[in-house]
Amino acid sequence: MIKEVEIVCPPGQHEDETVLTALASAAINIPQTRISGIKILKRSIDARGRKVLYRMQVRVFVDEPVQTESYNPQYKNVKDAKRVIIIGAGPAGIFAALQCIEQGLKPVILERGKDVKQRRRDLANINKQGLVNPESNYCFGEGGAGTYSDGKLYTRSTKRGDVNGVLKTFVAHGATEDILVDARPHIGTNKLPQIITAMRESILAAGGEVLFDTKVTVLMVAFGKIKGVQLANGEKLLADAVILATGHSAHDVFRMLHSQDILIEAKPFALGVRIEHPQEIIDRAQYHCEYRGPDLPPSYYNLVEQVEDRGVFSFCMCPGGIIAPCATAQDEIVVNGWSPSKRNNPFANSGTVVQINMEDVKGDMSDPFRMLNFQQQVEHMAFKAGGGNLVAPAQRMIDFVEGRVSADLPENSYLPGCKSVDLKEVLPEWIHNRLRKALPAFGRKMKGYYTNEAILVGVESRTSSPIKVPRDRQTFQHPQVAGLFPCGEGAGYAGGIISAAIDGVNCADGVARYFN
Ligand code: FAD
Repeated sequence: MIKEVEIVCPPGQHEDETVLTALASAAINIPQTRISGIKILKRSIDARGRKVLYRMQVRVFVDEPVQTESYNPQYKNVKDAKRVIIIGAGPAGIFAALQCIEQGLKPVILERGKDVKQRRRDLANINKQGLVNPESNYCFGEGGAGTYSDGKLYTRSTKRGDVNGVLKTFVAHGATEDILVDARPHIGTNKLPQIITAMRESILAAGGEVLFDTKVTVLMVAFGKIKGVQLANGEKLLADAVILATGHSAHDVFRMLHSQDILIEAKPFALGVRIEHPQEIIDRAQYHCEYRGPDLPPSYYNLVEQVEDRGVFSFCMCPGGIIAPCATAQDEIVVNGWSPSKRNNPFANSGTVVQINMEDVKGDMSDPFRMLNFQQQVEHMAFKAGGGNLVAPAQRMIDFVEGRVSADLPENSYLPGCKSVDLKEVLPEWIHNRLRKALPAFGRKMKGYYTNEAILVGVESRTSSPIKVPRDRQTFQHPQVAGLFPCGEGAGYAGGIISAAIDGVNCADGVARYFN
């Protein structure tokens, strides 16, 4: 007999199988001697009351052996199968490639950046010297923006596809099985590169191809159909289907599409700053205690406020994290955040952004680059204000709200360094004002949040793509080019690792339908 039941226990006991079995036995009213084992299905931290608790949904095996699951997909050999070109090796491109293999198609991934190992050197140059390689950085290279990311694996887009299937693929390639049960699954920057490498090895072992330092500069189209791609070195590669999964930072790809008269559209996004607190302030507020202790993970928050008809919200919150310099060109500042698997840094950061509507940005309403140009202007302003070498403009929280330049800045995790400025110089007034109103309101929701110990670092501008590449809802193909599948975050169909991966799977299925 198999039963499912919810059990609750204090931190510290949540990993003790004897305790969990006793709790399950009591919950189903069956003696422990008849229980052969339990399997955790879902696990979350309940910090609503004074006492913080772990809440778990468990499967209990009574009078029968425990059933275990294996996560080893058997990929077909597709070496001689029909080929599909995938531009971009981010989560969308990699999952599209694995799904092509499942569909009996041969994926050929073309990636402008380097493999995960070689990419590290370029990240060190960014962090230590403030030097950006435009082809290899936090956004470009194997694994895309997802490799040196935080690796939070939750998404709101459960309706778009098989989230559990994506999580199992991560487990099959080395992620811990915890991601299958945790309410807020997380991998961590230190573990993602090995997992991405294992995925590449699966693709190669099945007969797919992955080419690095290979930038696509032209889409070859004839009579409304895709024929292949041309590379930066002039080489041409032919294919009847191309999945375009180039991410939100490949501005040259948007310009390439526009110059080839392939329709793209401006799209709203959100912009603001990254805010960092000492992690212990967030723990105190969320766990209602002076000291978190070893049995609870660093805490997170999720804050939203409506200010003058516009959402202001926290985004991509990284407990125990680091603020990352994510520019893809030398003359811009773009920040984001990551954390290692243990989340053991003393800081907690999150993007805190204002939703931007299309009418907020002036200019020619028919210009597809209107929102992207606005995004770039703000990133350039941030660069100028920081004074170069990726030094970011920053301000203490209360100083920002009260309109003072900070006399000094708190210790923080942004490696290229911060410069104290009035962020009014960087942010458009209508964004600055809404942030100023939202922060004290966040402080009323979360004790300790509104403090001058927190630093605001500009600018968090790449929250989602400022451009959409249209596609048909059923076929996933571009309305003007048969066989071209706009995919992932850059095309406007994903916002995060899981949704990008799901979109990759959906596009590969779209290719299989197109070929049949
Ligand atoms: P990308 O990951 O952007 O991949 C696009 C790829 O295309 C890149 O590798 C690029 O080099 C390549 N490319 C571009 N142009 C060309 C060309 N012309 N020719 C060949 N190749 C090209 N999301 C989460 O869900 N959880 C998180 O914790 C999280 N943390 C993040 C932390 C950081 C620091 C960053 C930067 C992002 C984070 N994100 C996170 C966002 C997440 O990484 C992205 O949503 C996701 O990677 C988008 O996937 P994608 O495949 O659509 O595009």
